[in-house]
Amino acid sequence: MYRSHNCGELRESHINQKVTLSGWVHKTRDKGFVAWVDLRDRYGITQLVFDEDRTSSKLLEQARSLGREFVVQVNGEVIQRASKNPNIPTGNIEVLVEEVIVLNESKTPPFTIEDETDGGEDIRMKYRYLDIRRNPVKENLIFRSKVAIEVRKYLSEEGFIEVETPVLIKSTPEGARDFVVPSRMNEGQFYALPQSPQTFKQLLMVGGLDKYFQIVKCFRDEDLRADRQPEFTQIDCEMAFVEQEDILNAFEGLTKHLLKEIKGVDIESFPRITFDEAMKRFGNDKPDIRFGMEFGELNEVAQHKDFNVFNSAELVVGIAVPGGNSYTRKEIDKLTDWVKRPQVGALGMVYSRCNDDGSFKSSVDKFYDQEDLAKWADVTGAKAGDLICVLSGDQNKVRTQLSALRMELAERLGLRNPEEFAPLWVIDFPLLELDEETGHYHAMHHPFTSPKPGQLELLDSDPGAVRANAYDLVLNGNEIGGGSIRIHDKEIQSTMFKHLGFTPEEAKAQFGFLMDAFQYGAPPHGGIAFGLDRLVAILGGQETIRDFIAFPKNNSGRDVMIDAPAPIDKEQLKELNLKLDI
Ligand code: ASP
Repeated sequence: MYRSHNCGELRESHINQKVTLSGWVHKTRDKGFVAWVDLRDRYGITQLVFDEDRTSSKLLEQARSLGREFVVQVNGEVIQRASKNPNIPTGNIEVLVEEVIVLNESKTPPFTIEDETDGGEDIRMKYRYLDIRRNPVKENLIFRSKVAIEVRKYLSEEGFIEVETPVLIKSTPEGARDFVVPSRMNEGQFYALPQSPQTFKQLLMVGGLDKYFQIVKCFRDEDLRADRQPEFTQIDCEMAFVEQEDILNAFEGLTKHLLKEIKGVDIESFPRITFDEAMKRFGNDKPDIRFGMEFGELNEVAQHKDFNVFNSAELVVGIAVPGGNSYTRKEIDKLTDWVKRPQVGALGMVYSRCNDDGSFKSSVDKFYDQEDLAKWADVTGAKAGDLICVLSGDQNKVRTQLSALRMELAERLGLRNPEEFAPLWVIDFPLLELDEETGHYHAMHHPFTSPKPGQLELLDSDPGAVRANAYDLVLNGNEIGGGSIRIHDKEIQSTMFKHLGFTPEEAKAQFGFLMDAFQYGAPPHGGIAFGLDRLVAILGGQETIRDFIAFPKNNSGRDVMIDAPAPIDKEQLKELNLKLDI
């Protein structure tokens, strides 16, 4: 037997018991006549003592030969610890070792296995299995497992059935590039890895399964933005005979359950705002509502004076920065430089200080008097002591820029408290989105999303105005879930494909199977998918999803531990019969 107890469970109540422990040598301290070894496993650390007087000098010699991360088994007796360590649960006892067995030796690890390690990101990723021995990574993986279990518990209890869908499939458009897999048996043909199980879950509804979920890997070959993974996990869900309201209620239920079980947070009900309202109030379709600084549109009060920058702008919009009047001129200049960085792209920033005596001092005093500036304060909700920051220009651009500033300032002001949770639904998304480069419309969510009732007619006359039965669940400024009510009628689906630029032949070749299925009694249906990696990271109070994935890929999509992707050998390549000259 390798162990009678684990390294985290012995207490004073075990004193005088004979025990067997196994684990890794965490640390050794040698005092000459006595040596201590911290033995570590998944559950904690137990101090072992090797004592010349109480045991033997041979044992002490053995203790000295143990290197960091050796795997050992010890037999011994639990005794009272002379100098107690209140910082660890086993800190009142130690194990007086009577026998040590080295189960495996270890090379010196390339970084310290400590909460605060000396290893950089790259080296930790190369030796991820050692990184996982560290508490922070281990705890994150345990936390993730807990979240997944709660998801399964809740959804199963609500009558959802977990169904696995295939991984070798045909393209499912979610707006990214497919990863493809050549088929050896079907020369010259390829599978695509699912960007999501979208079409399959819809077919399960046609199959009558009614409530489906799956915790599932999805694959998207995107140029990697910071903290995106080419393979990631979704909690994918679909329901039949539902309207938007049913879906929102069902998955608000799941999210509340997770917040309650995992974080002990009770949230009564989630606010809902439309996409248009989100853009107007926060310049963002995934607003962080843990703090205010809502947008105030200033066109009416700031245009038609002599300030041409504002007069020629489509939108003049500002936010009130709480306490911002304390910023020095230099700090405000720096902020202006910040919004002018190419990543944000504003042309400049106008500001107005709100002084404690109720007066204002702006960067455009030449054009605006106290009365004008008082109106700015009114519209942006600024109070004495605040700073009003104003951007202007093209409506869409300026909203995005001001949203970036709002988030940056909130971060600096410490308003983004990771232990506070502010979920909301954003609903009524546009059905289509104009691709500025090609001038074509594409589906904002995906091509299976249903327009809102009565809006189909608008598709011809004003495609950009058509709203969809599509919704996102937003948590602390992150989109953690998104879904829609689907089209379940073959004709409407064909019309949709036509508007998205598919010829009938292309639509048939790619999605004929779905449209065929719609001819056999497809029920009304809809669903949602949550990004599990991001959800877990946010619930864990952290930003980076990599820290919650056992074996993540780096920013170039590489797994540096197994060194993938990698070339394949000639024989394997030959078998695939790829005709590579295109
Ligand atoms: N398949 C969608 C996605 O991956 C989610 C959904 O519509 O249910 O974003």
